[in-house]
Amino acid sequence: SKAEGRGRFAFFEPALQEAARARRALEFDLRAALALGQFELFYQPKIHLGENCLSGFEALIRWRHPLRGLVRPDDFIPMAEDLGLIIRIGEWVLRAACSEAVNWPEGLSVAVNVAPAQFYTGSLVPAVAAALAASGLPGPRLELEITETALLRNGPEVLRQLAALKALGVKIALDDFGTGYSSLTQLRSFPFDRVKIDRSFADDGVVVRAVAALGTSLGMCVTAEGVETAEQMRRLRQDGCTEAQGYHLSRPVPVPALPGIIRRHLEA
Ligand code: C2E
Ligand code: CA
Ligand code: CA
Ligand code: CA
Repeated sequence: SKAEGRGRFAFFEPALQEAARARRALEFDLRAALALGQFELFYQPKIHLGENCLSGFEALIRWRHPLRGLVRPDDFIPMAEDLGLIIRIGEWVLRAACSEAVNWPEGLSVAVNVAPAQFYTGSLVPAVAAALAASGLPGPRLELEITETALLRNGPEVLRQLAALKALGVKIALDDFGTGYSSLTQLRSFPFDRVKIDRSFADDGVVVRAVAALGTSLGMCVTAEGVETAEQMRRLRQDGCTEAQGYHLSRPVPVPALPGIIRRHLEA
């Protein structure tokens, strides 16, 4: 009835207002976070399955909020995209990751996640060039992880920028493969160096074998994400993946934990 409807609104409105208020507070904090130095990169090891050796790390951003603690990217990256802050955050990530990776042994590379807006605004290529120049990291030791979303909008312009990145020596990976709509076409639309199979397929042997066969035949490395058990690791190796990443190998770790991981792998 009408009366009940009004009652429901009266009940929910304060909750909605509270949610909107909390969101505005978070937006306010996010605008200041860069200047306050509250962002941090964690690093997750990537393991080469054939040689069982460390091949590098993926940089994953965290926000150390004074009250909320460590905030995961899914809880603030979409907001940063809405607010247009992702461009400057993305530039910070590139600089921080490159200046960290230049300290690692030469064989180890760093993978950085790139938001679609970094392509659309045309800011990515100059930001990558600046981060490489400032750190002295050789281009081939930096890999950019892009998603299908970045490719879909504005196709030809994105492909032109990918070619400019390739000219800097940078490697390009297609991230979260299999979660979009036109996956197979996307895989052929550009000579990616790597395809990363989304973790939702870690237990789907049919999909893993198909993507591994296709990616390998196109000359790409094939990384399985979200490997949580030894059994999954064994099957992914058998199904033709070249690299693995996941909690079974290591969670993303803060910078102080890196020397220990690198040393263990060099000794092994
Ligand atoms: P992604 O690029 O697909 O990164 C993989 C996510 O899966 C990471 O979550 C990682 O911590 C998590 N993960 C790794 N291994 C496992 C596993 O074995 N099991 C499970 N359940 N999860 C695993 P995280 O760090 O919370 O990042 C989430 C997403 O946020 C990333 O997904 C990426 O899309 C985005 N992101 C992270 N850092 C950045 C960044 O610097 N810039 C941009 N634009 N996006 C970022
Ligand atoms: Ca990624
Ligand atoms: Ca992924
Ligand atoms: Ca993802």
